[in-house]
Amino acid sequence: MTPAGRFAPSPSGELHVGNLRTAILAWLFARSTGRRFLLRVEDLDRARAGAEAVQLRDLAAIGVGWDGDVIRQTARGALYDDAISRLQSAGLTYECFCTRREIQEAPSAPHAPQGAYPGTCRNLDAAELECKRSTRPAAIRLRAELAEYSVHDVLHGAYTGAVDDFVLRRNDGVTAYNLAVVVDDAEQGIDQVVRGDDLLPSTPRQAYLASLLNIPVPEYAHVPLVVNSDGARLAKRDGAVTLADLGARGVSAAEVRNILLDSLGLPPGTLEAALDAFSPAALPREPWVWKDTVNIQ
Ligand SMILES: [Zn+2]
Repeated sequence: MTPAGRFAPSPSGELHVGNLRTAILAWLFARSTGRRFLLRVEDLDRARAGAEAVQLRDLAAIGVGWDGDVIRQTARGALYDDAISRLQSAGLTYECFCTRREIQEAPSAPHAPQGAYPGTCRNLDAAELECKRSTRPAAIRLRAELAEYSVHDVLHGAYTGAVDDFVLRRNDGVTAYNLAVVVDDAEQGIDQVVRGDDLLPSTPRQAYLASLLNIPVPEYAHVPLVVNSDGARLAKRDGAVTLADLGARGVSAAEVRNILLDSLGLPPGTLEAALDAFSPAALPREPWVWKDTVNIQ
């Protein structure tokens, strides 16, 4: 199977210029290295009716094309169940009955990173398990055998981050993001993951999970986010940030694409034409500030 890169949006609303810029980068990374480019809709959570169709239309409008069929995570439950079963068989999971509040209020283990699961349910005996099972459904957690893990990132170099007993399946039955993304990338032949650098801190968890499942760890490139003039991650409330908003102001999809290419130091035109000038080493490493009307001349 030809190796692949991907873009994997959550259909929770319209894509904004930050999402579109990341999609362009993922496409450029994949195509400049001879990879296929796949699109995966991460609809396990927060999916909004109709959002996927608008996202696909907007990606096509700025020139981001993809190979093969669009994959949807809600159709892939059997793959996630299989991966969790394998981990269970290896003794690498346990049931957790904690509420969010109980986790927040539990004393954290010494030296544990902030926000790490304190391990409350790690060693329940049979009687405790039976009692807890009668009170609420269990989440499934990974029984992590280490506290940190290191990955290599094309833009960030060596990166070491915390690993805790993170959730693999929530107690409402929904597969957790960290598990689904690792299973999907492997199953789709994706060996290059390009995404926003807000996801860098969860990458060691995913790479560790891949190692436990005997899955090759992909190449990672975590790209700078687009921020508003206050330096916060761009959001819908920051004004005209979607193709529909910008279109209403008379800015075409091709003009938005050119603005985004310019922000990456690349010439205006098609994405295919930008491939010649694309070099990961030359990419800006700082967040790009979207100044609404200032960017649109
Ligand atoms: Zn628990």
